[in-house]
Amino acid sequence: MKKYVVISGASRGLGFYLAQKYLEDGHIVFAGAREEYPIKLIELKKTYPNSLILLQMDVTDTTSIENATRKTLEFTDKIDVLINNAGIHSESSFEVLEKTNLDDCLSVYDVNSIGPLRTVKAFLPLLRNGSHSKVINISSESGSIGSCQREKEFDYCMSKAALNMGSKLLFNYLKKDAIGVLAIQPGWMRTDMGGQKADLDPYETACKLVSLFNRIEDINHPIFIDNEGNSLRW
Ligand code: NDP
Repeated sequence: MKKYVVISGASRGLGFYLAQKYLEDGHIVFAGAREEYPIKLIELKKTYPNSLILLQMDVTDTTSIENATRKTLEFTDKIDVLINNAGIHSESSFEVLEKTNLDDCLSVYDVNSIGPLRTVKAFLPLLRNGSHSKVINISSESGSIGSCQREKEFDYCMSKAALNMGSKLLFNYLKKDAIGVLAIQPGWMRTDMGGQKADLDPYETACKLVSLFNRIEDINHPIFIDNEGNSLRW
């Protein structure tokens, strides 16, 4: 069945390849990007003129998300999959505490922790109309409090831990609407964020994730998993 999929941060990296994979599989994709004319997405739209819709959407800006929702409503009143993929870390993230600019934490939280909630809030009426609707939060193993051994990346790790808590709260809240919520660690990928030394190709990762999301039909409990579907410690 054709799915209606919204993806934030689809201008590059994992978000772009998730959009490409869903399109290849014949679904309708609403791809969010901060820029008005994201080059890679405009190229992709040449191949999928009718099934790729570009949304200008900055997840730190409520008005821009609401405008994106309005544009989506011009095409459909239902969304089956919402992928909160947009994410950042700060320039000083990998420094020791003394050299970390903690003022950056706020902007990282704004994108990584609050952005997904803003997006869910705006798209909620459409998610309620979807079939086996899912909210997928692209988290990270670095947001796991239970297995944390790190001593750096305060902003990023704390923002993803907050995203994980947001995922649990959302799960509890949306259970009555039969909207599932899952948090996933995609793996270390060769993107602008992951760097070129990373293990995984982002397109191959996107293919693996989409196949995993397709296999998860109904979500009856809060889930935090890796890209193989194995449970991670919250
Ligand atoms: P990239 O840095 O390659 O891409 C990040 C994307 O997020 C870009 O499309 C960027 O848009 C978008 N973005 C940033 N800020 C905003 C904003 N305010 N509003 C909307 N979009 C925004 O990252 P990855 O593709 O590597 O990461 C994707 C997700 O996977 C992130 O959530 C990340 O934390 C997570 N992750 C990544 C890992 C990795 O190894 N790469 C490992 C674990 C998790 P723009 O082009 O406009 O800047």
